[in-house]
Amino acid sequence: MDENSPEVITALQAIRLASRFCQKVRKELAEGASIQKIDRSPVTIADYGSQAIICKLIKDTFPDDIVVAEEDSALLKKPNHLNILRQVTGYVHDLFPGTSSDEVCSWIDLSSHSIKNRFWTLDPIDGTKGFLRGDQYAIALALIENGLIQLGLMACPNLYADKERPGEKKGCLFFALRGKGSFQMELDGEGRQTLSVSKVSDPVKASFTESVEPDHADHLVHQRIAKKLKMIRPPLKMDSQAKYGVVARGEVTFYLRVPSPSEPGYKENIWDHAPGAIIAEEAGGKVTDLYGKPLEFSSGIKLERNHGILVSNGILHEVILKALEM
Ligand code: AMP
Ligand code: MG
Repeated sequence: MDENSPEVITALQAIRLASRFCQKVRKELAEGASIQKIDRSPVTIADYGSQAIICKLIKDTFPDDIVVAEEDSALLKKPNHLNILRQVTGYVHDLFPGTSSDEVCSWIDLSSHSIKNRFWTLDPIDGTKGFLRGDQYAIALALIENGLIQLGLMACPNLYADKERPGEKKGCLFFALRGKGSFQMELDGEGRQTLSVSKVSDPVKASFTESVEPDHADHLVHQRIAKKLKMIRPPLKMDSQAKYGVVARGEVTFYLRVPSPSEPGYKENIWDHAPGAIIAEEAGGKVTDLYGKPLEFSSGIKLERNHGILVSNGILHEVILKALEM
C-alpha cells in the first residue's frame, strides 16, 4: 500500500469530509444535541453523522470490507430521539442531497462488530466529552490486516497545528502508513511534515499526556509514576487519541493510561487505539500495554488481552515500565 492506493485516497477523502461536518455541527451545536447511551456515555449528532459519512464512502469503494465502528442506529430510531435523527439527516442531506433518515440509519449500520482478516476500525468522534466541552476530539480511522495496522488517520480539528505556537492556527490531520512513516498534514491543505518522537532520554526532562476525564485513567497512579521518575513538568491533559499525535510529533515524551479504579475490568476498544498506535509507531515511538505487551488488534472489538496503555518515544519505554512495576 502506498499513498496512491485507493484505500489511502478513500480514507483521506472520508476523514476530511467527516471532519468538516463535525466542525459545522460543533459550531451550531444546540442544547440537547447529545443523548446518553446505555453505558451512560454521550453520543451526538456529529458522532452519528460522521459514522454515516465514513461508512458510506468506505463501503462505496470497498463493498466487501468490514468497518468496525463505535455507533449503531438503535437509539436514534427510538421515538424520543426522532428530533436527533431529523437533525443528523438534515446535516447529511446537505452533503448528499436526497438522503433520507432510513438511509442515514442504514449507513451508520454498515458497521459490524465481527472481525475478519482485513477490516477498518472507526471512532467517528473519539473524545465526545471533549467535543461537547469545546476541547480536543478526533475522527479516527485505521485499516487492519492480519492483526497488523496498515494505515491510520486521525483528524483533530481543535488541535493547534504548530506545537511551538499552541495559541495559533488549529486543525491537524495525522496520517501513517506501515513502513512509510508518520505525517502531520493540514486539514484542508496540501502542506505536510514528517513526524518523529522526542529524543529525551533523561526522565527528569520528560513530559507526559493523560486523559482529561479522571474516570478514563488513574491520575493518582500517573502522579506517583511522574514523581518516581523525578519529572518536573505537569501532565498535558487532553481528550481523545490526539494524545498519540502529541507523542508522535515530539511534543511530549509519553502517554500513560493506567486503568481507572472507577470501572474495574474495563477493556479498551480497538477504535480508541489502532489509529493512534500506528501514528506513534511510525514516528519512531513504542506502544504497549503496562506489562510491555504489544496491543492485540485481532481478537475482537476490545483489547481483551491488554491492560492499560503506554505510548512512548521508545528510549524511555523500559524505564517507565519499570517504574510501573513497583
Ligand atoms: P480519552 O479522551 O482519552 O479520555 O478517552 C476517550 C475514550 O475513553 C472514549 O472513546 C471511551 O471509549 C473510553 N472510555 C470510556 N470509559 C472508559 C474507562 N472507564 N476507562 C478507559 N477508557 C474509557
Ligand atoms: Mg472513543
